[in-house]
Amino acid sequence: MTAFEPVIGLEIHVQLATRTKMFCGCELVFGDPPNTHTCPVCLGMPGTLPVVNAEAIRLGLMIGEAFGGELAERLVFHRKSYFYPDLPKGYQISQFDEPLVSGGRLGDVGLERVHVEEDAAKLTHAGASGRIGGSTSSVVDYNRGGTPLAEIVTLPEIRSAEQASSWLRLLRETLRQLGVSDVNMEEGSLRCDANISIRPVGDTTLGTKTELKNMNSFRFIEQGINAEVARQIRVVESGERVQQETLHFDPRTGSITSLRSKEGSHDYRYFPEPDLPPVQVPAELLESARASIPELPLQRAERFRTELGLHEESARLLAFRRALGDYFEATVAAGGPEADRQQIANWIGNDLVRRLDAGEDTDPDPAESKVEPASLAELVALVGAKTINRKAGEKVLDVLVAEGGTPGPIVEREGLAAIGGGDELRPVVQAALDANPDAVEKLKTGNMKPIGAIVGHVMRETKGRADGGEVTRLTREILGL
Ligand SMILES: [Zn+2]
Repeated sequence: MTAFEPVIGLEIHVQLATRTKMFCGCELVFGDPPNTHTCPVCLGMPGTLPVVNAEAIRLGLMIGEAFGGELAERLVFHRKSYFYPDLPKGYQISQFDEPLVSGGRLGDVGLERVHVEEDAAKLTHAGASGRIGGSTSSVVDYNRGGTPLAEIVTLPEIRSAEQASSWLRLLRETLRQLGVSDVNMEEGSLRCDANISIRPVGDTTLGTKTELKNMNSFRFIEQGINAEVARQIRVVESGERVQQETLHFDPRTGSITSLRSKEGSHDYRYFPEPDLPPVQVPAELLESARASIPELPLQRAERFRTELGLHEESARLLAFRRALGDYFEATVAAGGPEADRQQIANWIGNDLVRRLDAGEDTDPDPAESKVEPASLAELVALVGAKTINRKAGEKVLDVLVAEGGTPGPIVEREGLAAIGGGDELRPVVQAALDANPDAVEKLKTGNMKPIGAIVGHVMRETKGRADGGEVTRLTREILGL
């Protein structure tokens, strides 16, 4: 049987964090009562004229600059025509053959382009069950109409649903740290369409693609892509052809339904926007965009790796979540030059995050917890110096998370200090050996399996304060192994 591979490209719509709309002065406030932020321009009244929001262009240029794309010298807008109640003008002002940004790359995925445009209004379909005003209907909120968007289009370089969702996480975090959008998926500030086709493994041609529309959570994106890839494989294996169409994935049922046959660009009758003649992108806008790029997650991960000596995986984990990266740097600073940075990274990335976990799509911020960076640095140092063992360290962390404070008094109060070196531990190990003659017989033959029983015995006697490695060492010493 032929093996197939998916070929996936993404189109991401990002609402830009401007104060006002793309072509008028209406303010952007999420959650206000419907149709309270509108004006003749964004309602598409005849005789009104659009004015470009320079800040939206600057944010679009920042995205291009951050991804190493080629920034356009001219600003050119086109009309994209379609007829729908969410579009009062009957067209959307967008960009066509001269996007603001061409090319670029983020991590393992290349970009085709980034262009700017205005968002449509928000339609809510009451459906058969919801009745508004006495009849089954749809309602529209024009507050969203005219919101500045950046559309980011990737090359078809993604090969799995998992790669798509992990790359999107990187994109979202990068855009967040750039400060160009609040990237809130639940509020629709970041929405993703996926273009999906399949081809026999080893083939280099592109198959017919379908477009999966408007997915707004990482989980749905992964599920949706997997469902569509499976569907296309079934279609091809049954001897039929994949049709080019626009699809909707329903995460509740896992089903895929066709919205419409996919439009080609000719369906939109693109033509140059006569109300906005092409203009040069002002030099000061370019300079301001270039000057506003902060250190981004991939660069930060590289710095954590090369300058702070973290393993690749820890470096990415911490750098890809700004709150964790900031907390890590604060803890390293508090720990001073002697601090074991990799250990600090492990404690934050594993132990602390697990204790603070706030659920899917909500990243915990350790800075908002009761654990001060200096306390964590001290805890890591205590474990490093074997003043307490790791298990005891985890208990201390439990207390720090629950109550705050500093490790020293907690270690004392809870009696967690490690049993000191050989002098204190030796009699306890001796007693454990005396109590387990069977284990000792096996150990003497070179079978080290029963060492677990000895360590367990010692841990019980010392209430977990002994160091496992030290117990093994003393056992060997006593038995002359
Ligand atoms: Zn307006």
